Amino acid sequence: MVFVPWRYVNLWRCNGCGLCCREFEVVLTFKEWLNITKIYGVGVTKAGLNKLYIGKRADGSCVFLYPGPNGRWLCGLQHIKPLACKLWPFKILSKPKYGHASEALFEYLDQKFYVYIDPFCTGIRWGEPSAELIHKVIPEFIEIALGLRQNQLYSTMIIRPVFFPIKLKDNF
Ligand code: SF4
Ligand code: SF4
Repeated sequence: MVFVPWRYVNLWRCNGCGLCCREFEVVLTFKEWLNITKIYGVGVTKAGLNKLYIGKRADGSCVFLYPGPNGRWLCGLQHIKPLACKLWPFKILSKPKYGHASEALFEYLDQKFYVYIDPFCTGIRWGEPSAELIHKVIPEFIEIALGLRQNQLYSTMIIRPVFFPIKLKDNF
């Protein structure tokens, strides 16, 4: 598995393609498993040898994935979304585990982090890092990784209002 340092990324936005919710197993902490089980029952989860996971349908998709508007896919577990889902496709690390230390280094809250992204995600725009990536997206992922925030604004799919052009007058 190759993870790419954030300095190669112009911007990341989830487009709701749903691929990650089909391709990967979501490992749950015991507390996450308990919270999900208390609401939905044990049948929506599964147990491995040493790990607990979210359940999958026969087609490989997460049992909480459901179709949204315009061909997008939505998460039905927003209110108690597991940390692994909240952080994907970023890796927020305290050491440069995947190499390229200088390009992965990100300083925030007077701390050093090493930030990588999984290139499997279709929401990546490659290029020079944008202000939104540096000041909004990555800081939010770091705050979530540190447990400083729960709510997601830039680290999940942003539903943007649809603007229709206003036709003032035919001859305007
Ligand atoms: S995180 Fe990436 S792969 Fe997952 S739904 Fe969003 S764009 Fe698709
Ligand atoms: S819990 Fe939500 S984000 Fe996580 S895999 Fe399932 S549908 Fe995707």
